[in-house]
Amino acid sequence: MLLFTPGPTPVPEFIRTAMGMPTIHHRTSEFEEIFARTREYLKELIEMPEVLMLASSGSGAMEACVTSLCAKKLLSINSGKFGERFGKIAKAFKIPNVEIKNSWDIPASLEEVLEALEQNPDVDALCMQVCESAGGLRHAYELIAKAVKEYNPNILVIVDAITAMGVEPLDVSCVDALIGGSQKAFMLPPGLSIIGLSEKAIEKIQERDVGFYFNLKTELKNQVKNTTAWTAPTTIIIGLCAFLERAREIGIDMIYHQTKARSLACDAAMEGIGLKIYPTIPALSMTCVYHEESDKIRKVLKERFNVNVAGGQDILKGKIFRINHMGLVDISEISWVVNAVELCLNKLGMRKFNGLANQIFIEQYFRVIKQ
Ligand SMILES: *Cc1c(COP(=O)(O)O)cnc(C)c1O
Repeated sequence: MLLFTPGPTPVPEFIRTAMGMPTIHHRTSEFEEIFARTREYLKELIEMPEVLMLASSGSGAMEACVTSLCAKKLLSINSGKFGERFGKIAKAFKIPNVEIKNSWDIPASLEEVLEALEQNPDVDALCMQVCESAGGLRHAYELIAKAVKEYNPNILVIVDAITAMGVEPLDVSCVDALIGGSQKAFMLPPGLSIIGLSEKAIEKIQERDVGFYFNLKTELKNQVKNTTAWTAPTTIIIGLCAFLERAREIGIDMIYHQTKARSLACDAAMEGIGLKIYPTIPALSMTCVYHEESDKIRKVLKERFNVNVAGGQDILKGKIFRINHMGLVDISEISWVVNAVELCLNKLGMRKFNGLANQIFIEQYFRVIKQ
């Protein structure tokens, strides 16, 4: 079965092998050496002065960032399930929250953000996604972050890059916290989250000193010394180190380039056979197709063609299917997925098969890859 869901992504053999070694104790020089190297690789990848790794799924890092960086009022951008989650976190911790809420195919606009800031002068942190995975939508996070900092440099900008870190080069010049998760572009099992931090975020964390398990001040104190406050998820960190070493060998820019080529080519192929791309601004991490019969399509894809793609949740349940582009994906595999979608439409009597999807995919892929 080909796992093509935009998280979790498949764990490749070289990572499984690296993680297959006997468990080592986390308070040892052997593990500290691996932890130190992983920290350096991560800082190099995200180009931020500090980075933390937490034993949690991505949502744990979202929670830690909100509680550590927001004291007065949170402005959050909600164009889907993950944007909505920031508001839910604020509510759970009784932090006042204002939301910019749009339909799941529409990104937040600069005007909406500036207007919300005008109306809420007590906002001290903004939260948003790079890619809102619920509908595969790309927010112009870099423009919004820049405008917010120009408006008031004391507002901290928290960016959920869980489906963007390792997918595309990220401009972090106006970002204070950048969140990543193991089970997306890093091709690891779920259970590790990553937070890149700016100098300003570090200051705020020291000053606020909140929480217990997710106390980022405690984590900072330990992680700069290449250890963790609590038992580290050693196995996943060993896998992350292996992934980042492989990524450095391939060249991270090459990974970004190939991801972009696969993503754009897949979008073009789906449109070429008459399917509709759901988001108005698609992110590169996934291709999100809107179709009223998405569940039928996914069922045939799985049962007949051995391809597992993700569906939608909530308002998009049964209405979309999402094809992953994150991580190291073999071109022959995604090419088969694209072909399988066309075969599937044929099988369901929706469109006669003529090989057009794969033809477009291959043409577009090599056109982009040569650039
Ligand atoms: C997957 C994902 C998360 C994290 O979800 P977890 O289930 O906690 O790992 C957060 N934000 C986005 C955009 C995601 O795609």
